[in-house]
Parts: sequence; structure tokens; C-alpha cells
Amino acid sequence: MSGNLILGAGIAGISAGYHAKKAGIRSVIYEKDGDWGGLCGNFTINGFRFDRFVHFSFAPDAADRKFFAGTHGMYEHVPFPGSYYHGCWLRHPAQNNLAPLSPSEKVNIIADFIARPQKSCEDIAQYDEWLRVQYGSYFAEHFPFAYTRKYWGVEASELETRWVGVRMYSPDLRQVLKGSYETQDECFYFAKKMFYPRKGGFRSILNGCREGLDIRLNKKVVHIDVKRREVTFADGSSAGYERLISTLPLPEIVTMLDDVPRAVREAVSGLHHTCGYQVSLGFHRPDVAKHLWFYIYDEDIPPARVYSPNLKSPDNVPEGCSALQAEVFYDHRSVIPPAGDVLEKTVTAMTGMGLFDKKDIAVCDIRFEPYANITFTPGIYEKRALVRHYLKSLGIESIGRFGKWDYVWTHQAFADGRETA
Ligand SMILES: Cc1cc2nc3c(=O)[nH]c(=O)nc-3n(C[C@H](O)[C@H](O)[C@H](O)COP(=O)(O)OP(=O)(O)OC[C@H]3O[C@@H](n4cnc5c(N)ncnc54)[C@H](O)[C@@H]3O)c2cc1C
Repeated sequence: MSGNLILGAGIAGISAGYHAKKAGIRSVIYEKDGDWGGLCGNFTINGFRFDRFVHFSFAPDAADRKFFAGTHGMYEHVPFPGSYYHGCWLRHPAQNNLAPLSPSEKVNIIADFIARPQKSCEDIAQYDEWLRVQYGSYFAEHFPFAYTRKYWGVEASELETRWVGVRMYSPDLRQVLKGSYETQDECFYFAKKMFYPRKGGFRSILNGCREGLDIRLNKKVVHIDVKRREVTFADGSSAGYERLISTLPLPEIVTMLDDVPRAVREAVSGLHHTCGYQVSLGFHRPDVAKHLWFYIYDEDIPPARVYSPNLKSPDNVPEGCSALQAEVFYDHRSVIPPAGDVLEKTVTAMTGMGLFDKKDIAVCDIRFEPYANITFTPGIYEKRALVRHYLKSLGIESIGRFGKWDYVWTHQAFADGRETA
């Protein structure tokens, strides 16, 4: 064939195909799943639509926002997520919304906040120290240390700090004190507005570019012969290429190549990530969902985070109904409990939190995602650079969240596809 061969029909691959097409270059996109969208995709059960994990768009670029809005437009949400901690509901971020906690817990948090080590964050390489310096030890140990184990599947001491950026809010003493007396109305989330398609679920942001693309589904790549410039699929078929763009995870693509140098194999084995379950629940009642999303700090409750599909858009549920999707994450190296156990434990725990009664459930589903977040363990930058440099030397352009091996949001994966094309 002539033109681009693109591996993966997530937002990065679709964007690459779309922008190449605009430039007059033909592309064929090969996707292992039976549907397009990757992590931007969704599934529907009895009229309840669920995305693959929480998803909002917060593209900073106005042209991208307009493009993602398509013909149906977007709902605009101001994010006020909640936090659940040992029976208390706090606003997010918990560190400056302590009001609902007991007086003794507030005293412990505030005393440790005042006594926290004074150190510049730029000098701190380890996440556990970063948290103690930002929030004081009591809060660090009871909130983000616990959340790190739930969200990242590792201890805070196992993470480095360069990924943090705008993601964690650092209050001053006045904000901590104010928030310990009263609920704060200010939005402290790093994105002040979050957008979600009115119709069709999150993947509708791709409606403007998917039409007319040659996307071949159920085509799992199993081997890449860079000398013959040929890709082989699990069904035994193969395709030649002039230019190869991959959005496949680095640890996957390396297994598809011949004669990979030992240094590359070692580097890739040192790249870590999370995987996880989506527990998706639809309810006969309209009022189960109270928060756009919320965090759960308790470690005996499996989900780290829960979001409400119907509050993102009412188009996601049948009339008079509501829904929740809980995200349960693991480090990819850990022993993953069976889906049935996680489902049972999650539903029981959420019932115990008073969110719903089991009799309210209309739809109940659990799915596993092998790749969720890149884990920023020490050495990640050098290891991924080595692997990507090797792929480049073979003429493979590796893009997107798992191709770059980075904490990439959808608008960044979209930009990646555009720049590559
Ligand atoms: C829990 C969670 C929440 C998130 N929330 C947000 C959010 O609110 N806002 C936001 O902007 N971003 C969010 N993101 C990030 C966003 O999902 C990603 O940045 C984006 O979807 C990545 O797109 P991609 O095309 O790079 O990768 P993917 O979507 O993973 O696409 C890669 C594609 O390659 C396919 N593939 C893999 N192996 C093979 C193979 N062997 N052969 C053929 N095809 C293969 C996969 O099936 C997939 O379709 C979130 C991510 C997670 C995990």
C-alpha cells in the first residue's frame, strides 16, 4: 500500500488519520477492538451509556473546543467534586475543605500543616516528601498516601514528582483555616470549566474527524517486520506500509518486533502503569447521582473515584434514571482480584455508603482496562526515551498516551495526532 498505516483507533490515531487526510495523504487505521475510540469510547446497556472511565474535555485551545463540540454542542460544568472520608463528605480538595471533620482531626491536620518542613518543591524528588511538605504529615498520611495506593497502586514513596504540575492544589494557611470552618464556594480544581458532549457520550468529540476514515476493526497487530515494512494481524492477514504511526503501548509494541536489543527490553520492563475495572451501575431512580464525580479515601472501599454519567449529560441514561461508574485501579504488577469479587465488594461498599439500595439497580456491569495511567516511578523519563528512540530508529512514530508514555489528556493526544500527520 502507499500512505500511512496507523495502529490504534483511539483519539491519537483518529486525529493522525484525519489530519493526514486533510493534507491529501491516505491512511488506514487498524484497531484490535470491535469499535473505535479507545479510552474515549463507550458502551451502552439497556439505554445506559457509560464512558471508559470518567472523561471531560478541558482543551485550552478555543479552536479545539469548537471542533470537539461538533453540531450538538457541549454541556459546560464547573467542577465541584466531592470527597468521601470515613463517613464524612468533604468538598474537593479535602486539604482546604476540612469543615465536616471532627475537631480533633482538624487540630491534628492544622497543627501538622503549620509544623510542616519548609522546603522548595523543586528540590523534592520523591512524592511522599512532596506531600508532607505541601500538607503536613497528618493530612499526607491519612489522605493522599491512602489515595496514592488506591489510584496509583503503589506507595507515595515509589513515585517521583515531575508529573504533579497543576494536578494537586497547594493551599496557604488562611485557606486551610477558612475551609475548616465553612464549606468553600470557590472552585479550586485545576480546570475551571469542563466540557461534555450533549449527545452520544464522550467519544462524540471525535465525530468531526471520524467520518470518511478507513478504520478496520478487530485487527489486532501481533508482529511488525520493519525490514519488509509489513504488519501482521492476529487473524493471519498482513498489510504493508510506507509510514508507520503507532499509538500502541510501548510495552506491547516492543514484543511485536524482532531482535530487540537487551537494553530496550530492560528499559521497557521498567515502565509501569495502572490497569483497572470500571464498575458501571444504572438505577431506576433519577436521584442517585449527587456529584459530577467524587473521590473515596477509605482503603476498605475498592473504588478510588466514582462519576455520574447522567450528570455529565442526561443523554447517557433513560428518562427518570441515573447512573454511577466506579473506577478501581491496580498496579499492573499486582495480583488482580477476579471481576466478580470486585463487583460484589464495590456494590456492597457503595450501598454501605448510603448511595443507593441494591433494589434500585437496573444495570450492573464490570469491565477491565489493561492500561489506565502511566506510573511515574524513578527512571521513567530515561527508560521511555530509550524505547522511543529505538522505535524512531526503526521508522516507527510512537504517539498518544501510551505511545509517548505520558500523562496525556485527550486534547494532547489529539494534538499529537495532528502534529504527527
Ligand atoms: C481513568 C482515566 C480518566 C481519564 N479522564 C480524562 C479526562 O477527563 N479528560 C481527558 O482529556 N483525558 C482523560 N483521560 C486520558 C485520555 O483517556 C487519553 O489521553 C486518551 O484517550 C488517549 O488516547 P490514545 O489514542 O493515545 O490511546 P488509546 O485511547 O488507548 O488508543 C489506543 C488504541 O490502540 C488500540 N490497540 C492497542 N493494542 C493494539 C493492537 N495490538 N492492535 C491494534 N490496536 C491496538 C487500543 O484498543 C486503543 O483503541 C483519562 C484516562 C484515564 C485512564
